[in-house]
Amino acid sequence: ESFHDVDMGEIIMGNITLTRYTRPTPVQKHAIPIIKIRRDLMACAQTGSGKTAAFLLPVLSQIYTDGPGDALQASKNSGQENGRYSRRKQYPISLVLAPTRELALQIYDEARKFAYRSHVRPCVVYGGADIGQQIRDLERGCHLLVATPGRLVDMMERGKIGLDHCNYLVLDEADRMLDMGFEPQIRRIVEQDTMPPKGIRQTMMFSATFPKEIQILARDFLEDYIFLAV
Ligand code: AMP
Repeated sequence: ESFHDVDMGEIIMGNITLTRYTRPTPVQKHAIPIIKIRRDLMACAQTGSGKTAAFLLPVLSQIYTDGPGDALQASKNSGQENGRYSRRKQYPISLVLAPTRELALQIYDEARKFAYRSHVRPCVVYGGADIGQQIRDLERGCHLLVATPGRLVDMMERGKIGLDHCNYLVLDEADRMLDMGFEPQIRRIVEQDTMPPKGIRQTMMFSATFPKEIQILARDFLEDYIFLAV
């Protein structure tokens, strides 16, 4: 068992080597191939299982293969039309929702390691910090956004973020987000008109538990999904 069983491209493979991860954890071993074949996923996995890399690695690898042109254009131009890959800077290709600032920052740190030496620019936004600074950071270009739900809704309402190009959506620690009362914000984000619908975007949910409320969310947000419990 090795990370080389699935081809995730040279940059990712090099960055895995730099992080000194030698072999995939069980959730990585099973989730990475599922995400790579572009299936929706409901994964039950605990904190510490390596779930962060399980979604970040295949999603980042997809962003590279989908269109390096897109990402390059987006980071070099101010969002003006420039061929079919054009994308505005504050329009991430991938969105990761997380319950807390601490978890959001952990995911962001790991994303930075895996995006090293690539054109992919991760950003993070969370509540309780200066929103102006986060907006300016997004305006420098964002391919992968890690966000807590409340702050993201705030950004949406201010018109500072667009989810029109969000092809990859991850809900991390979904049960914790519901416990914290974030369901209305999550639904506002995922069910807004500009978000690509399920079946078009690829959606991955991670949760430690699988109670009725999570099953309902999975039914509403996922299309023909694979269920994985590790
Ligand atoms: P997570 O469950 O994603 O929060 O990861 C828990 C910890 O395990 C983090 O500190 C990761 O950096 C680390 N980790 C994740 N995957 C691996 C791996 N394949 N080999 C070694 N460490 C890992």
